[in-house]
Amino acid sequence: MSFFDAFRHDRKIAVMGGTFDPIHYGHLVAAEAVRDRFQLDKVIFIPAGNPPHKNSKNITDSSHRYNMTMLATATNPYFEVSRIEIDRKGITYTVDTIKQLRALYCAIDELYFITGADAVLEILTWHKVEELLKLCNFVAATRPGFDLRDLEQKLHEIKSKYGKEIFHIEIPSLAISSTDIRNRVRSNHTIKYLLPESVEQYILKYGIYRE
Ligand code: NAP
Repeated sequence: MSFFDAFRHDRKIAVMGGTFDPIHYGHLVAAEAVRDRFQLDKVIFIPAGNPPHKNSKNITDSSHRYNMTMLATATNPYFEVSRIEIDRKGITYTVDTIKQLRALYCAIDELYFITGADAVLEILTWHKVEELLKLCNFVAATRPGFDLRDLEQKLHEIKSKYGKEIFHIEIPSLAISSTDIRNRVRSNHTIKYLLPESVEQYILKYGIYRE
């Protein structure tokens, strides 16, 4: 049975979109919290391929980001990882990813896209945003200290322009950040307990983030 055959009958699915450079406990807790809140059948982690807002030279090789995401999600039966963005050529736009998923999973009733609130703040600049907002629901995850006024204003703007409500979920463990983990490795500080041990060992084994 192929990866996609296994999920054809799932009706409520979320996509966890992010660069995952590296994946950490904040991402995992956010995905599980959204799964629980919306009673989802699956959360599919989709490591970003060649995102429009980033210089790919500054991102760790996609095979490492994919492998780390696989290791981190291995023990949760509701979590899966997809290579669809990594394998797609050119710039990877979320709208194309969502369309591809909708074509593959004919049974979907509800589809959510979970990502960081910083990314959601920029959503009005995303490729084909109007179409995208019709194709799925969005969940913005915030970390402690995030200025909610900016987010509320943006969510209000999206609601009045497109009639679409975007969900918001506060995740205390998003105090962990990928940027901080990369800096810690670079400066020889511990990253223990910020991410699964298997991912920590993988980073050490391949010397990732050591410059
Ligand atoms: P980013 O700019 O690297 O991250 C923005 C913030 O959100 C960071 O604080 C990041 O923290 C956090 N974050 C990222 N993914 C998260 C997740 N799944 N859950 C909780 N927090 C998360 O954003 P990115 O990761 O490159 O992009 C996010 C998603 O939006 C990707 O799937 C990307 O393809 C998509 N996107 C699409 C378009 C488009 O279609 N035009 C444009 C921009 C982004 P950490 O660094 O700790 O993760």
